[in-house]
Amino acid sequence: MNIVQLNNLEDWYLANFESQLKGRQILFDDIHPLINNLSSKFKKEQIGFSENKIPIYKISIGLGSIKIFSWSQMHGNESTGTKAVFDLFKLFETPPSSHKNYIETILTNCTLQFIVLLNPDGAINFTRENARNIDLNRDAVDKKAVESKLLRKHLDSFKPQFCFNLHDQRSIFNVEGTPNPATISFLAPSEDVERTLTEGRKETMSVIVAMNSLLQQLIPNHIGRYTDEFYPTATGDNFQKLGYNTILIEAGHFKNDYDREITRKYNFYALLQGIYFISTASSFKNYKPYFQIPNNDKMFLDIIYKNIQVVENNETTKTDLGIQFKFKVINGKLVRYEAIEQTGDLSDYYSDNVVNAEKLNINELKLSNS
Ligand SMILES: [Zn+2]
Repeated sequence: MNIVQLNNLEDWYLANFESQLKGRQILFDDIHPLINNLSSKFKKEQIGFSENKIPIYKISIGLGSIKIFSWSQMHGNESTGTKAVFDLFKLFETPPSSHKNYIETILTNCTLQFIVLLNPDGAINFTRENARNIDLNRDAVDKKAVESKLLRKHLDSFKPQFCFNLHDQRSIFNVEGTPNPATISFLAPSEDVERTLTEGRKETMSVIVAMNSLLQQLIPNHIGRYTDEFYPTATGDNFQKLGYNTILIEAGHFKNDYDREITRKYNFYALLQGIYFISTASSFKNYKPYFQIPNNDKMFLDIIYKNIQVVENNETTKTDLGIQFKFKVINGKLVRYEAIEQTGDLSDYYSDNVVNAEKLNINELKLSNS
């Protein structure tokens, strides 16, 4: 299995990642100047508009016969993949000498197309859905949204061998059997309710096996496997069924990294390894280790308040309170707030922030139920 040799890649990354993009909310206005600044190594095409008439771009690089198609932020509030893709563009733009050879190989063997920020309206509102309240990842069959039509049109004309479908997952996910958040999770989507192990799915899995091998060196036991339950209207499931092998990457939480600035780096490594493997692999048969990647579990919380006081009918009882951070746009600004995710005895749950709240009353916390 061909695995990227890390050498000084970490140093290169920290000095050269796309520092213009940061935080959870990434908008078209953030990426537009970066697209304009890309050199002539890249082909830049405005391929259409969102429902609210914000431009959508496709960026291409490489001249090879292996075709790889990626798109980011089909869910407007899931920006980590977009940041990772622009980090990757920086590597393609000016690779360090120790990495020049294989970057050259990738760009000789492959044609890479990226739709960066497929759902710019959702990005502004920080919603999963587009401006018409359509979840693009449940619109692969109906294609009611202009963004879904656009994605499908470019898939059908490009006919890629492999796709990368870039998402963010909530911080509730841990790696099963560990207290670690699932920093990166992978999925080879099912093509039917029986979750049949088709030849295409096996090929998709073999790429994930290679990506997991690299990531385990960097963040051992922080990589999970997303449920392969079949979603009949989801993008990945349908593209995989059409014969376009689709790798889902879910960027998740890393300790204290609420802006996902650490996770983006591992998302970058995952993408680089996936593309490198596809560009050099002699076969895509090594799928079995996919099933050794631990499942995603849902046992992680952003804060656990232990034994907090609850007063009801003049009686004081105690409970644990599990908090998930959520985000919303207020007056054009992204604001983080604490939402109740779990109550009761949370001894089995994991968090990096366990607060002894014996002396605290639940009413003293600013909480939301939504
Ligand atoms: Zn998503």
